[in-house]
Amino acid sequence: MTISKPLVLDELRRIKGPDLQGNIVDLGLVSEILVKDDKVYFSITVPAARAEELEPLRKAAETVVAKVPGVASVTAVLTAEAPPGTAQPAAARASVQKVSGNGAHTHEPGHTHAPAPAIQGGGPRPLPPVPGVKSIIAVSSGKGGVGKSTVSVNLALGLQAAGKKVGILDADIYGPSQPRLLGLKGQPQVIEGKTLRPMEAYGLKVMSMGFLVDEETPVVWRGPMVTGAFTQMLRDVAWGEDGDLDLLVIDMPPGTGDIQLTMAQQVPLSGAVVVSTPQDIALIDARKGLAMFRKVNVPVLGIVENMSTFICPKCGERSDIFGHGGAENEAQRLGVPFLGAVPLDLDVRLRSDLGQPITATLPDSKHAQIFRDIAARALDELETAKRNTVQPPELEVTDGGAGLKVSFACGSTYEYTAEMLRVMSPSAEVQGHSPEQRVTVGGKRNVKIQELRPVGNYAVRIAFNDGHDTGLYTWTYLQQLGREKDKRWEEYLEELKAKGLSR
Ligand code: ADP
Repeated sequence: MTISKPLVLDELRRIKGPDLQGNIVDLGLVSEILVKDDKVYFSITVPAARAEELEPLRKAAETVVAKVPGVASVTAVLTAEAPPGTAQPAAARASVQKVSGNGAHTHEPGHTHAPAPAIQGGGPRPLPPVPGVKSIIAVSSGKGGVGKSTVSVNLALGLQAAGKKVGILDADIYGPSQPRLLGLKGQPQVIEGKTLRPMEAYGLKVMSMGFLVDEETPVVWRGPMVTGAFTQMLRDVAWGEDGDLDLLVIDMPPGTGDIQLTMAQQVPLSGAVVVSTPQDIALIDARKGLAMFRKVNVPVLGIVENMSTFICPKCGERSDIFGHGGAENEAQRLGVPFLGAVPLDLDVRLRSDLGQPITATLPDSKHAQIFRDIAARALDELETAKRNTVQPPELEVTDGGAGLKVSFACGSTYEYTAEMLRVMSPSAEVQGHSPEQRVTVGGKRNVKIQELRPVGNYAVRIAFNDGHDTGLYTWTYLQQLGREKDKRWEEYLEELKAKGLSR
């Protein structure tokens, strides 16, 4: 029986809006209705701060839709609108407050969780740390099937072998495979009605999207749903119940699209590992992965080449099925560390299928050694990255918008005039796409900063009162500008003079 979407909407019209006025459909709060077989999915947009209070609204919406003929299960989620003026990508705006449903297949992940409102006009805040976790590493790949999940779990076990307390979060929405790779069945327990206790396997704490999102949920729906569920799964989990984790490894969804970028922006990542096969095509994808992490100011700890060489289990002969060394050469060219090459090996695959990861179950094997070496290198790179990463500074707008004071964690503080920031805006509008296109901006002596809009944990967008708001001021740019302030200002004044312009 085909489910009628108009009928679903008619039923939803019976649900009043958040302020008990109008109905949620005509108020424009209901998303597109997705129907898959006999299941119905939709979201309702509510103000972030009222998510918890509006839980009855979500339940009521599910209840009425369940009455539509042919409907076997309904999943309604509350999505929160970001406060106006925050510069977040579209996917981040769709922050899911609660994933649940009335179908038997859907699981209650815990309580509602409103995202922290972004700061306006004050200064961007660094992403809050994840409770119970000291450092987080993302494992990513440009495309699926390159062995990202296999590398994630064995890397986690390799880190554990190096004496670290480790957890793994399976955020691969397209194919959560950690439960299978680790031989886990069942679901995580809810503690005190609000926090999830991670499951455990081979000494690792484990959480997976697979525990929360029904495998049959259509992929189109998963995007917005999981970006919210992801934050919840990350933060509402008792990772540190018996001692803080030194490291949490996140098995990211493959690819470098909006979803991945949003996820990367939502987590205080200490570093990222990119997995690639030696095939050129995968390397092009891997390069996109590097660019994505650079964009959000997350240090790339290195590239792992997987399925690099086939070693015949019978005769021990090596053959380079996909060519060998591609990733290593590429890493060198891109100036990224090369963490190691994992040969294609039947045992790796068989053990993965059995839920017995090789690093834990065959610790004396060559492969286990390779993964331990990769983990050791990744740890080294993590230490280096920690020393070099620019922590989000404190920003203070001064003189009623005429200045900005930026205090970095390392102790340096820089003060800039709004005029300087405006005329040296790193936007394409000012800088062009090549030095020849650069514009000398004059007449901004009295310009003021109107608003600071945080962007991830790596930059701030500054809106000026002359309407210019396209400059993305990364921490590194602000540092550089601060260090070279006097020299740059002199150059600017000379340029103005040379072009017959004035301030
Ligand atoms: P991804 O997470 O990138 O989609 P998976 O980790 O699920 O990839 O791996 C895809 C398939 O390749 C799985 O069947 C896995 O067992 C197998 N595989 C991964 N790495 C290796 C390897 N080094 N040797 C043999 N099989 C591998």
